Amino acid sequence: MKLTFLGTRGYIETVTDAHRMHTTALVSYRGRSVRIDCGEDWVGRCGEVRQQAIFITHCHPDHAFGLKQGAPCPVYAPPEAAEEMADWPIDDLRVINCGEPVTVGGISTEAFDVQHSTRCPAVGYRISAGVVTVFYVPDVVYIKDREAALAGCQVYIGDGATIDRNFVRRQKDTGELIGHAPVRTQLTWCRKLDVPRMIVTHCGSQIVKGGEEAVRRVEEYGAERGVEVEVATDGLEVVLR
Ligand SMILES: [Zn+2]
Ligand SMILES: [Zn+2]
Repeated sequence: MKLTFLGTRGYIETVTDAHRMHTTALVSYRGRSVRIDCGEDWVGRCGEVRQQAIFITHCHPDHAFGLKQGAPCPVYAPPEAAEEMADWPIDDLRVINCGEPVTVGGISTEAFDVQHSTRCPAVGYRISAGVVTVFYVPDVVYIKDREAALAGCQVYIGDGATIDRNFVRRQKDTGELIGHAPVRTQLTWCRKLDVPRMIVTHCGSQIVKGGEEAVRRVEEYGAERGVEVEVATDGLEVVLR
């Protein structure tokens, strides 16, 4: 399995060479690829890479709005996102439900509910091809069935909106937690569930503005927890066997 991090920037104003485009990744296996997310930076450019399908995690602008002018392939979205996207000119929009994996080009993708936003319910994707399984979740406060989601994963690809600042708040009317878990917390999930490696994407200001110093801090948190960790930059390719 090959991961290509086409974009690694979260929903922030700051743009750098390392983190230029909204968070999206290509998962390839034996010449076939599926893509996760397509934010508004990508509008009109979704066909620049070849992909057999696009899976959307949730309908926030930095994850889905790149499809507002249509898509060059089938698009899978969780029910609430699919409803939001129903009027967009996407020829082949399909609903993906949790617990019902979809296989495209030998790559199996299964949605897991995560807490992140009340208005735009989000999922993470457990993706398997050959002997490799990864979990990809760019925006997350917590994963509802973390054990099932992360069991046996070689890599956890997670939310870099914050390294160690608190970005979680409680929504007034529903009491739900919304926002982003710090990288530090996600590394602890990895340690608890024996996931040996984390790749940080969806980078927020702490990482994008913090440069090398921020990356070092992420690495220290990883070392403390016995988890190998790296911060993805646009264009990074990772081959997993
Ligand atoms: Zn986001
Ligand atoms: Zn979001």
